Amino acid sequence: LRKCFNSRIQLNWRGQRSFSAQTGGSKLEGKVALITGAASGIGKETATKFIANGAKVIITDIQKDLGQQTAHELGPNATFLPCDVSKESDISAAVDFTISKHGQLDIMYNNAGIACQTPPSIVDLDLAIFDRVMSINVRSVLAGIKHGARVMIPRQKGVILCTASVTGLIGGIAQHTYSISKSSVIGIVKSTASELCKHGIRVNCISPMAIPTPFVMEELNKYFPGVESEKLAKMVNDFGVLKGAVCETGDIANAAVYLASDDAKYVSGHNLVVDGGFTTMKSLDF
Ligand code: NAD
Repeated sequence: LRKCFNSRIQLNWRGQRSFSAQTGGSKLEGKVALITGAASGIGKETATKFIANGAKVIITDIQKDLGQQTAHELGPNATFLPCDVSKESDISAAVDFTISKHGQLDIMYNNAGIACQTPPSIVDLDLAIFDRVMSINVRSVLAGIKHGARVMIPRQKGVILCTASVTGLIGGIAQHTYSISKSSVIGIVKSTASELCKHGIRVNCISPMAIPTPFVMEELNKYFPGVESEKLAKMVNDFGVLKGAVCETGDIANAAVYLASDDAKYVSGHNLVVDGGFTTMKSLDF
């Protein structure tokens, strides 16, 4: 991993700043969304763009103080509810809270996830770590779809979104546990979309490229102790292959707005890859 990061730094850093198109408007007017893992990163940015498009959003997260702070920043159309996605009862309660507060749930976004340090060889894999990651990254997604569908089926409409990853498509760099969890998310989306389409419910996921959000930075700190945050963020951005841009949370939020809106009214069972072409490359040594 270290070798790979280093070579990408030398070969690919172009020092560019990128931009992320603002998605404002009324694409989600009157809609109610519930987003997990929304205190920071992709979830927070998506909540921001959902609200900018007219939605009311319940933001949930395991981090209570940060979640409250995020809701405060986002204003009156955001409400925070603590929720640990590894507990089905918390997810069920978040869905029920949304219904009691707003009377409906239109968009269920299963976004929360964690990374994990896994050994380079499968031989050394600690299955207890595997179980923990699967519980937060996979079981929670299944539970989110289950409880989202529970309240959407009676209305015969709704949108379910999940966050997968490019690592779910290409395998990972010393990241088999995380990669397996994210390919499982893609599988869950495809199989549940096939059932829920008959109820007018669309199920899709988004596979982002690497973005230096808090959980990524925390993991990198373990691999590269003492290296400055700015350098670590640069390493992450160096994975990008699209000239003139780096992947940002806003790019994923824009994809989520599209999938949640009627612009995507015939899109279901889809994995929207937002990677600037990264997964089209044959290997990481380009
Ligand atoms: P982030 O660290 O900014 O956000 C993740 C949030 O999930 C945090 O606020 C954290 O508190 C919350 N969380 C963690 N465990 C939880 C639990 N048990 N219950 C509820 N909330 C919990 O990181 P992010 O990049 O915005 O991650 C969001 C999703 O995007 C994750 O599923 C991640 O796997 C995925 N993803 C991220 C990247 C990337 O490079 N940043 C790439 C591909 C996919």
